[in-house]
Amino acid sequence: MALDKFGRNINYLRISLTDKCNLRCVYCMPEEMTFRPSAQLMQDDELFRLVDLFASRLGFRKIRLTGGEPTIRPNLAEIVRYMANTPGIETVAMTTNAILLQTLARPLAEAGLQRVNISIDTLDPYKFKKITRWGSMDEVNAGIQASIEAGLGIKFNCVVVRNFNDTEDVVELAKLTLQYPYQVRYIEMMPFGDVADFQQAGVVSEEELRGTISAALGNLSLVDDGVLDGEARLYKLDGAPGTLGFISSVTAPFCASCNRARLTADGRLRLCLLRDKEVDLLTPLRAGATDDDLEQIIADGIYHKPWGHGLDDNIIPLTRVMSEIGG
Ligand code: SAM
Ligand code: SF4
Repeated sequence: MALDKFGRNINYLRISLTDKCNLRCVYCMPEEMTFRPSAQLMQDDELFRLVDLFASRLGFRKIRLTGGEPTIRPNLAEIVRYMANTPGIETVAMTTNAILLQTLARPLAEAGLQRVNISIDTLDPYKFKKITRWGSMDEVNAGIQASIEAGLGIKFNCVVVRNFNDTEDVVELAKLTLQYPYQVRYIEMMPFGDVADFQQAGVVSEEELRGTISAALGNLSLVDDGVLDGEARLYKLDGAPGTLGFISSVTAPFCASCNRARLTADGRLRLCLLRDKEVDLLTPLRAGATDDDLEQIIADGIYHKPWGHGLDDNIIPLTRVMSEIGG
């Protein structure tokens, strides 16, 4: 078991499989993005060794694959299969833009992937293109359909951007829950590196958002007395089979129940999304560290996991943008 100094049991690892992406969402990365050379990223054998250690020696039980865009990593089905068969790992999930799921959903499900969180900020194809710069809604729809047919669990993630998708679009997405048993989750935009000014100006709080949805679609009731589902606080529209989740990392952070650590594509253990503190695992691994050495480095890093972001004090994560950390 990996405990931090506040007594939190950290057992959920979010792994960025690549810093690269086939889209360029405005809140995530600039259009002219420079990526790391592949040799600087964890290779499959290095990734597998670390996953074995996290599971067998530190008690990690859940893995989420993310990026960049995880579906562009070569050999993805084999990576999923390895992780799903790693003793101790109970759940393998993925966060994706769904562009490539039309062909990948079935092989990934067969390899042991259980769930996908699909990022979709609007149902309007024109706006979708605008926010992702390069994306096509048709491809996403085909990816969603393929995921349903493959039997994957699905949640939808919407990053809310003021004056862009904070009115009709959030309402249209909420309407999906009146028809289907899905969870639609609204994520407060977080500031990172170069694009921080834009992001901070565009934050829409959970409270404001609930007001907008409620004014259009009626009463929202709290689910499970507000106990968080992962990082999301859940609400339901009257009569809806689905739920609405609010992930308010900026205005109402969920640090007390945070059980996660992140492994960046270049093999750094990132202890908090919104803090720059990282521990390098790949350099010692490549320099011949033993499993005992690596276990000690990881356990020490986790013990010092920070509590809370520093946004109120204007401390903004500067070393990486979101796609390099793995959201
Ligand atoms: N490419 C995949 C995707 O978009 O789902 C996985 C990586 S992406 C970095 C993970 C999640 O982070 C997505 O749901 C994305 O919308 C979200 N995200 C990206 N930039 C963000 C920001 N500045 N604030 C909040 N969420 C952000
Ligand atoms: Fe790519 Fe995901 Fe970032 Fe969009 S949010 S640019 S899909 S990594």
